[in-house]
Amino acid sequence: MHPREAKRPVRPPRMNFFCRIYGHTWVHEAETPKVVWNNDKSLSELFPKSEGEPTFYRRCVRCKEKRPWDAK
Ligand SMILES: [Zn+2]
Repeated sequence: MHPREAKRPVRPPRMNFFCRIYGHTWVHEAETPKVVWNNDKSLSELFPKSEGEPTFYRRCVRCKEKRPWDAK
């Protein structure tokens, strides 16, 4: 690669105008995994069986960018 090309800054994907000026406004969101309802043996009760842990992430209210909650 030509050294001058290497120094050229990589353009970030299109960002909301306000996000560019003020930074993102993150909100906390959670994605709950699919819950399967099972009968117990007596069939008198239903209990939820969750497939995996809920995922927490944050989303920018303006540009909808999604990032892991603990990412910098
Ligand atoms: Zn944003």
